[in-house]
Amino acid sequence: MSEIVLPEVELNIYNPKNPVEATIVENYVCTAESSPNIVRHITFDISGTDLIDRIRVGQSIGVLPPGENEKGRPHKLRLYSVSSPTSGEGGKSHLVSTTVKRSIDEVDGKIYLGIASNYLSDLKPGDKVKLTGPSGKRYLLPENAEDFNYIFFATGTGIAPFRGMIKELFENNYKGNVVLVFGCAYRTDILYPEFIKEMTGKHPNFRYLSCVSREGRREDGSKYYVQNVIHDHAETLDPILSKENTLIYICGMKGMETGIYHNLALRGHLDYLQLRGDLAETDPKEWTWEDMKTNIKPSSRTFEEVY
Ligand SMILES: Cc1cc2nc3c(=O)[nH]c(=O)nc-3n(C[C@H](O)[C@H](O)[C@H](O)COP(=O)(O)OP(=O)(O)OC[C@H]3O[C@@H](n4cnc5c(N)ncnc54)[C@H](O)[C@@H]3O)c2cc1C
Repeated sequence: MSEIVLPEVELNIYNPKNPVEATIVENYVCTAESSPNIVRHITFDISGTDLIDRIRVGQSIGVLPPGENEKGRPHKLRLYSVSSPTSGEGGKSHLVSTTVKRSIDEVDGKIYLGIASNYLSDLKPGDKVKLTGPSGKRYLLPENAEDFNYIFFATGTGIAPFRGMIKELFENNYKGNVVLVFGCAYRTDILYPEFIKEMTGKHPNFRYLSCVSREGRREDGSKYYVQNVIHDHAETLDPILSKENTLIYICGMKGMETGIYHNLALRGHLDYLQLRGDLAETDPKEWTWEDMKTNIKPSSRTFEEVY
């Protein structure tokens, strides 16, 4: 297999004490249909800042929401994955995008709105926002990206880096195999449907597999979660997973990685995992969730960003 060479990146050119101001250029809902899970595609203009040409796809940017917390301290920064390619949104190096879900919780009848995600979602073109970053030095496409096949597993806004990575691969005439596995609760929550349609139409070497967990059931009555495609679409995935030069990227809801690792192990794809404790000696059918959570780590061929 070719060596995985990750590009050198500069980290935290701007930090919370020294943030940079960017301008919103677009902010639109990017779910398939109107959905109570509101997710927006937001693009920032970073003209005149040192972030230009220094943010790579796979990295995150920090957002500093204005105002203070209940202790009277400035709100902490929140990280958002870049969803534009390294060349910039629409090939423009001064534009960088992200994908933001409004976070809303109800506890004991009281509604709590997440600070940063709702602040960002309310912004209009022309509004200014304070950014930090970039952050993240491993969750990147290799420099020699064309030497590998990719299986991307996303839940919800975890699709953000893959939108950018898929654009980047095909901008560079990529000839390998790339599969995007996307999971969400309802069909209305499918993200970037136009982009997916365009990529599927243009590139026979791009496959999209979606898993909608709360509508319909698998044959055995269980729900469609992203990890189930490893079994349900084995005829598509096994040949790719068995290649030495395939890399796996996982992004989205914390906990999703455990189910993916278990299903990979059940099908014998152990090269993507590092096993600790006695997992290596036990049949994957016997593994418990607790054991897997603490004793499976990604191997050098697996990249994980869960939050
Ligand atoms: C590397 C990385 C990349 C990320 N990328 C993305 C991305 O691309 N897109 C994205 O949308 N997110 C992303 N996130 C998550 C993001 O950073 C934020 O955590 C998320 O947007 C929530 O932040 P918030 O300020 O809106 O919510 P917060 O204000 O931090 O609140 C968190 C949650 O708690 C609830 N809450 C607040 N107060 C209370 C209370 N008193 N009682 C009960 N509940 C309460 C809120 O409703 C909210 O749901 C990423 C995180 C990491 C670490």
